[in-house]
Amino acid sequence: MKISNKTILITGATDGIGKVLAIEFSKLGSNIILLGRDASKLDKVYDQLDQSNASQKHLILEADLALLNHESAHEILKAITSEYNSLDGIINNAAILGTMTTLEDYELSRWDEVLNINLRAPFILSKTLKPALENASDPRIIFTSSGVAKIGRAFWGAYSVSKFGLKGLAEIFANELESTSSIKVFNFDPGATQTKMRASARPAEDPSSLKTPSELVDCYLWFFSEESSNSKKHYFEYDELSRKVTST
Ligand code: NDP
Repeated sequence: MKISNKTILITGATDGIGKVLAIEFSKLGSNIILLGRDASKLDKVYDQLDQSNASQKHLILEADLALLNHESAHEILKAITSEYNSLDGIINNAAILGTMTTLEDYELSRWDEVLNINLRAPFILSKTLKPALENASDPRIIFTSSGVAKIGRAFWGAYSVSKFGLKGLAEIFANELESTSSIKVFNFDPGATQTKMRASARPAEDPSSLKTPSELVDCYLWFFSEESSNSKKHYFEYDELSRKVTST
C-alpha cells in the first residue's frame, strides 16, 4: 500500500484513533495535516510525527469543529492549498460522545454540539476541500461510523443520531461522486477500541479487553490501496475489513 508522499488530513488527530493514525501514517512517508481544537495537544502530536524523509511536510490546523462554517472551512482550504499541490485524503475522525441520557432529558445545546462536530463539520469540510482532493490522482474521503449507526439504542442520543446521519451523508457523497469525480468515499466503523471516548461510554469495561488504535492502522491503510479503488462497497466494519486485510 503506497502511502508515502500522500497528503492526508486527519480530524481529531490529538487523541485516540486519529493520533495513532497520524503517527503511523507519518512513519510510512505521508504528509500529515493534523486538525484539532487544542493547540498544546496538536504540538505534542506534531513532535511525534516522523520527519525522516526530507520531502515530508506536516501541518497543524487548529480548529474547533463545533464552530466550523463556510468561512473557516475556506480558510482551511487556503491553508492546505498554499502548502500542498493536492490533498490525497480526508479522514473525518473527530467526534464527541455527548451525553448518555434519554432523549427526554437531552439538553438542546449539547445535542447541537454533538451534531455540529460529528455530522455538520464532516459535511462542510468534505464539500469545501473537494477541489484540493480533485488535484490528487486517487483521492479518498473516509467517514467514521459506529455500531449505533445501525440500530437506535436507549441513551445513545445525539451521538447515535449523528452516526445515522453520517451514514446517509457518506452514501450520498459516494453516489454523487462515483460518476463525476475520481474521489472514492468510504464509511468505516472501527468497532470497540481502547480510547477515552470508549472509556466514557463504557466506564465499567476493562480497557485491556479491547483492541488498541494501532490495530486499526492496516484497515485505514487499505482505504488508500489500489484494491480499494475498485471496491463497489462503501461501508465497512472492523471485523470484516481486518479479515480482508490480513488475507491479502
Ligand atoms: P477520542 O475521544 O479518543 O478522540 C476524539 C478526537 O476528536 C480527539 O482528538 C478530540 O480532540 C477530537 N475532537 C473532539 N471534538 C472536537 C472539536 N470540536 N474540534 C476538533 N477536534 C475535536 O475518540 P476515538 O479515537 O475513540 O474516536 C475516533 C472516531 O472513532 C470517532 O468518530 C468515534 O465516533 C469513532 N468510533 C470510536 C469507537 C471506539 O470504541 N473508540 C467505536 C466506534 C466508532 P481533543 O483531544 O481536544 O478532545
